[in-house]
Amino acid sequence: MSDLSDLYQQVILDHNRRPRNRGKLPTANRVAHGDNPSCGDQCSVYIELEGDRIKDLTFDGSGCAISQASSSLMTTQLKGKTTAEAEKLFQEFHEIVTTGQAPEEISDVAAFAGVHAFPARIKCATLGWHAALNALKGDPAPATTESHND
Ligand code: ZN
Repeated sequence: MSDLSDLYQQVILDHNRRPRNRGKLPTANRVAHGDNPSCGDQCSVYIELEGDRIKDLTFDGSGCAISQASSSLMTTQLKGKTTAEAEKLFQEFHEIVTTGQAPEEISDVAAFAGVHAFPARIKCATLGWHAALNALKGDPAPATTESHND
């Protein structure tokens, strides 16, 4: 794990130790599951969608620190957002983890910029986001990183 030490910045460590919005959401009307077999990460996302806005959301899962911290952070980013805003936020996050270029104004998300140096970890970082977007689309098929190039 020592070669990954740069990845474990404070924000990631903090979300991994104290995951936000973790557990099942009784009021959820959208659920999707994500699976990253290349690392063994699992993530379920529960969303209470009110109209086109995410009223509440939680995640539950197991796996590496990156996947769990990223899913935790994702829930804090998407709460209160519309479906379109959620897609835009994912695009920004995806840009950060694939290029390492992070806009300064979203510092928590920028903690994941180091992931770009470890291509196998990009799947870990995007797993929860893929599951969330699938849930928003009402796509019943499990999100698997194997069907994505990232
Ligand atoms: Zn992982």
